[in-house]
Amino acid sequence: LEYSNQLEAKSAEQERTARQLREANEKLLALSVQKDGFLSQISHELRTPMTSIRSFSEILMADEAMGPEDRLRYSRIIHDETKRLTRLLDDLLDLSVLENGQVTLNMGEETIGAVLDRAVAAMEVATGQQDFVIQRPGPGEDASIYTDGDRLSQVFINLIANALKYCENPTPRLTIKVDEAGGRRVVDFLDNGKGIPTDAQTLIFEKFARVSDNHAAGGAGLGLAICREVMTRLGGGIVYLPGQGGAAFRVILPDARAEAA
Ligand code: ADP
Repeated sequence: LEYSNQLEAKSAEQERTARQLREANEKLLALSVQKDGFLSQISHELRTPMTSIRSFSEILMADEAMGPEDRLRYSRIIHDETKRLTRLLDDLLDLSVLENGQVTLNMGEETIGAVLDRAVAAMEVATGQQDFVIQRPGPGEDASIYTDGDRLSQVFINLIANALKYCENPTPRLTIKVDEAGGRRVVDFLDNGKGIPTDAQTLIFEKFARVSDNHAAGGAGLGLAICREVMTRLGGGIVYLPGQGGAAFRVILPDARAEAA
């Protein structure tokens, strides 16, 4: 009887090992499919600016008689596309560092208002070019948090830049409000644009996700993915708030326990 018990235990163990192997295999397969998708998306994103840089430089080289105006126009396109390429590579590198957990955080005491001030100042040149109004009702901004101020400000800058890019209201307005929700301190970014369709509201935090009809205005769709990674590293989060009229993002700051840790 003991021998048969031992046999049973052994076969149960073998079965468990086989199941674990199967599961590990499936996970690996899913990961490699994901990686293939990621690589083909990157290649696609790189190809677009590369193609226009090559074509326009070929035109410049071939047409010696080209007038100065056209020459300047084509050079400008090459310059802008090169900038786009650099930004894309910077974003990809940043995302990979964040995802691999290799990021070094410079933690310190900051007030929310001071981090917001830095973000708004960094965006001043861009926002000043249009009649873009940023409202900050004020209360709560004096609260102190323990965080990496530069990383948090990077998230705020991204949200302000997106409001500026996508709002599409003739009198664009962004309200930045510090609040409290579910026992956590939050910073809400509400614009008066057309918002994001319900089915895309979670998707936009994925890499390369863009809402289909605004490709021309946008970047590569990495900004919000980076925001999400940064907020996770900081011990907080970022979500889309549905039903607010325009687009509405909530940055959830780390709670007191995370701050202490
Ligand atoms: P991108 O580099 O394309 O700006 P993001 O990850 O920052 O990438 O944003 C993803 C997509 O979410 C954008 O392409 C845009 O379609 C949509 N989006 C982001 N912010 C807003 C906003 N404030 N209003 C409308 N759409 C937005």
